[in-house]
Amino acid sequence: MVFFILIVVLVVALYLRRVASGQLRKPLIFGWAVNGSGRRITIEKILAGKCPWCGGKMRYYNKPTEWIDHIEPSGRRRREVTERVPALECKRNPEHWVEVDPAESQEV
Ligand SMILES: [Zn+2]
Repeated sequence: MVFFILIVVLVVALYLRRVASGQLRKPLIFGWAVNGSGRRITIEKILAGKCPWCGGKMRYYNKPTEWIDHIEPSGRRRREVTERVPALECKRNPEHWVEVDPAESQEV
């Protein structure tokens, strides 16, 4: 059990170090993001503005942009996401979305 906790802490530490050294911003959940700008880790709330096309609410998350659809022998479909980008997406129309540059240092 202690070993398991150590592994989790190590993985989180390595992830945060990568975010900090790359000075990236990575989306977490519920509109929060971890920001490594200035090589310091900060957690920030992304205050998404309104959709530039229709004025709807936007949400910030890792949007899948490439995937492979597998069809299993049983006929069930399984989607494997191969690429994600941090994006702001309109809640009214999923086609209204903009990619957020993860190297951006200012507030979204
Ligand atoms: Zn929209």
